This record gives sequence, structure tokens and C-alpha cells, in this order.
Amino acid sequence: MKEQYQIAVELLQKLIQTQSFSSEEHNTAAIIEGWLKDHGVTFNRTQNNVWAVNKYFDENKPTILLNSHHDTVRPNKGYTNDPYDAFIEGDKLYGLGSNDAGGCLVSLLSTFVHFYEQKNMKYNLAVAATAEEESSGPNGLNSILGILPEIDFAIVGEPTEMHLAIAEKGLLVIDAYAKGIAGHAAHENTEKCHYECHSRYRVD
Ligand SMILES: [Zn+2]
Repeated sequence: MKEQYQIAVELLQKLIQTQSFSSEEHNTAAIIEGWLKDHGVTFNRTQNNVWAVNKYFDENKPTILLNSHHDTVRPNKGYTNDPYDAFIEGDKLYGLGSNDAGGCLVSLLSTFVHFYEQKNMKYNLAVAATAEEESSGPNGLNSILGILPEIDFAIVGEPTEMHLAIAEKGLLVIDAYAKGIAGHAAHENTEKCHYECHSRYRVD
């Protein structure tokens, strides 16, 4: 049997190879559904959000949600590699969404299937691979919070270099144009923004 690590890496490569811009995540949602099915997990899909709870879910126990997103932003022109070629060089896997948030997502999904059939856990586990995170769209995690069982605690996967972030700084959305080198909060980019930012900038 393949190691869970290898299985997670292969899922991540499939997700990278499949375009999943915010609100267009139907193909990656289908991949995640297939992966959960292969692991014997009974899951639900609400639009492009795929979610499940542990096999021995007990409503008298508190529930921990494992969440991350499978949508990506569009690749910027600064890409020197094919953003959809999920190749491994050294100990790094490259590709659009590998870091934000594919790596976290496949780790959380693997954690979930590891505990899925375990009996007598102190907590329930729920997992949600959600959509429209990058666009803060209406059909992402927010849209299923009323459908999921009541959540007592959540672990949300985002690229934080394994540092625990206990709160979100906030979200500021500006419609503007900018000249300069495109970037992302996850990367070092020392060039100053000269306004006219073309597209919506997230500050997170
Ligand atoms: Zn993210």
C-alpha cells in the first residue's frame, strides 16, 4: 500500500493540473469527491464545496472542522514555469495553488481519512474543501456553515510556513490599478506598489 504521504502528493498534483479559478472549481471539486470515495468516505457536495464528517459522528461530542480551499487566483505574467505543470524539483512541488492552499488542503484531507473510521474519539471531525476563498465569493465556506454540523473549533489551512495564526488580520478589498511586479501575500516582493492595481488586492 502506498504511503499516505505519496497519496497526498499525487492528489495535490492532480489539483494543480486542473484549473480551478474562484467560482470555476467544479473540476477540482470532482477530483476531491473521487478521492474521498476511493477512501471509503461518505461525503456531501454543496455547489463546489465538498465536505464530510467522521464515520462515527456523535452529536454529543464537540466537532473540529478541518478546512482549506481548492480555488486559486489566476496565474500572473511573472510565471516562469507552466503554472499547471505540477513538477517536483528537490523537495519542492511547483505549480499554481501548490502553496495556497493545495498543500494545506491535501494534508487536512489526509488527516481526515486517517481518523475517519476511528471509534471512540473524543471529538468529531468534519472536513470541508471549499470554494471561492480567493474571491471572498458568496458560495464558499460561508455558504455551508449553516449546513455543516455545529463547529466548536476549526483548523484552517493557509500558507503560514507552519506557524500557527490564531486570528485573521482583516480583509481590505480595493478596486484599483497598479504598475509593478505582481505578487501575493505569500511571497517576498519588495517593489513598491505605484497605484493603479489591476485587480482586487487582498491584504491578509
Ligand atoms: Zn489561501
